[in-house]
Amino acid sequence: MTIQNSETTGADRPVQKTDDEWRAQLTAEQYQILRKAGTERAFTGQYWNHHDDGAYTCAGCGAELFHSDSKFDSHCGWPSFFEAADDSKVERRVDSSHGMRRTEVLCRACGGHLGHVFEDGPLPTGERYCINSASLNFRKGE
Ligand code: FE
Repeated sequence: MTIQNSETTGADRPVQKTDDEWRAQLTAEQYQILRKAGTERAFTGQYWNHHDDGAYTCAGCGAELFHSDSKFDSHCGWPSFFEAADDSKVERRVDSSHGMRRTEVLCRACGGHLGHVFEDGPLPTGERYCINSASLNFRKGE
């Protein structure tokens, strides 16, 4: 997959909000993670050990990003998925921070930081989307 770096607040984002609007809408933790690419501490989030059937949506804009069908126990302390619900809803870009070369995952619609994707996941994709709970909301399936 081609990885292109782009601005978190690009003019092409369907969801456009000012920094003040994001601060007003999000909790302090959500803001720090979604808008400032922070990371929650492992094993502290709401969804790493969550097993209900349903959809995980972007806590910033509500886009449906992951489904419980592709969630697996990675034992890393963050909710982990082997694929996105729809590849067009997530965006990848190179993250060279902290002396590592990683692939950051963002919400395509609002540019919110979700986490990173690694190539040590299970079949069928071999990928592991390691996502902050604070970047997600959960909608139980019918
Ligand atoms: Fe979003």
